[in-house]
Amino acid sequence: MSTSQQLDKLIEEIKLFIRYAVPEEELGEAGALVARHRHHRRILNLLREYYVALPDAREEAVTRITKLLQRQGVCLFVLSTTSTAHLYAVSVDEVVWLGEYPGELDAEVLAFLGFSHQVEFKKICVPISDLEAYAGGVKDKSGECPACGVEEGEYHLLGCSVEVCPWCDGQLNKCNCRFEQLEADMVDNEEQLERFLDLLTAKGRIPFQEEHAPYYPGTSDGLDLDEKER
Ligand SMILES: [Zn+2]
Ligand SMILES: [Zn+2]
Repeated sequence: MSTSQQLDKLIEEIKLFIRYAVPEEELGEAGALVARHRHHRRILNLLREYYVALPDAREEAVTRITKLLQRQGVCLFVLSTTSTAHLYAVSVDEVVWLGEYPGELDAEVLAFLGFSHQVEFKKICVPISDLEAYAGGVKDKSGECPACGVEEGEYHLLGCSVEVCPWCDGQLNKCNCRFEQLEADMVDNEEQLERFLDLLTAKGRIPFQEEHAPYYPGTSDGLDLDEKER
């Protein structure tokens, strides 16, 4: 299945859940939000999770999505509905409900996101009425790496299939440079990976740029081709 077909399937699923979850008069708004973010897999996963789980058992359409922050591959999003707001942590393949917004974060989550104290997190929690709608993925670009989820200008998570190799300009997780650089026939242990990361950093890693994304839905044959080859 191509990337755009996968997204279409996801959208169909969300629409089905919306029909069960949302009162008639909010259907239009709920559908419009999905359509706005139709190119953005991470947002669609988030909406799907919301409509499947309906975290506080209230049947309300999502009226606004706000991105609070991003740290490497994990984003904090606020989903607003007519009467409440929810906080979610979203990675490329996982969506975790963190509670109502604004609220307190788990010590572990707090530390992961780089906050030393609850108060530090509170500082970025603007009032619900001031939350701005997230624009990512509204045009035909998501602004983030489709594979590992980092934003433009950030380094990919190691092993990401979109990362460009600084030695050969190829696909870093596929090219042979790691063997050459490590002078090894196999690269299969942690110590080697760490050494490779050092060499890579010394050479100069190439941060994510939108034009690197080789399999943007409908615009290239990157991933689709990949899948056909398999
Ligand atoms: Zn990436
Ligand atoms: Zn290479």
